Amino acid sequence: MGQLNAGIVPVTPFQQNCTILFDMDDKHGVVVDPGGDIDKVLAVLKDNAISAGAIWITHGHIDHAGGAMELKEALGVDIIGPHEADKSLLDNLENQGRRYGIAGARNCVPDRFLTEGETVSFGSHVFEVLHCPGHAPGHVVYYNRAAKFAHVGDVLFRGSVGRTDLPGGDHAALIASIKDKLLPLGDDIGFICGHGPGGRFGEERRTNPFLT
Ligand SMILES: [Zn+2]
Ligand SMILES: [Zn+2]
Repeated sequence: MGQLNAGIVPVTPFQQNCTILFDMDDKHGVVVDPGGDIDKVLAVLKDNAISAGAIWITHGHIDHAGGAMELKEALGVDIIGPHEADKSLLDNLENQGRRYGIAGARNCVPDRFLTEGETVSFGSHVFEVLHCPGHAPGHVVYYNRAAKFAHVGDVLFRGSVGRTDLPGGDHAALIASIKDKLLPLGDDIGFICGHGPGGRFGEERRTNPFLT
């Protein structure tokens, strides 16, 4: 097995970090949160000779899931995640698109919802599914124990946390998700998040003003 690698493609007016997770040796992987700008995502896959075997979704917001159906059709792969508690958000992506002025967003129908404790994988890279509600009720985090890496979506940012003023948001639940499920994984866990630069859990535990 080669090393786990990640490439980021900023998509939508929200500059969401659509993330291509792939194996360095065989260049096979998955696309996490293709919120839009699917032409751009497909070009990055092609230019780097990466084959994607699935689409993983962290939560049902438009900047993360609005382009999932288009990418699914282009690649012929399944959409996996998030947790079923985000179904009503996924069923309303076209409305969200109109509200935020994002053309081409489509309602998303995952092939498989995920629950806490399940695992998803590509090649020999295994990710544990953590259900982390608060920013969105069905938000999941993908955690790779061997690589000490987590894709945390919009749960945690460098120096900040996800907003909780959108439908289904719950600030206390969000902080509990971070403190009870993410930080205990260890200070040395590196993360990619949905917007802006990633970081390490230890740095957030010590300096993130929302967690101290
Ligand atoms: Zn979000
Ligand atoms: Zn977002």
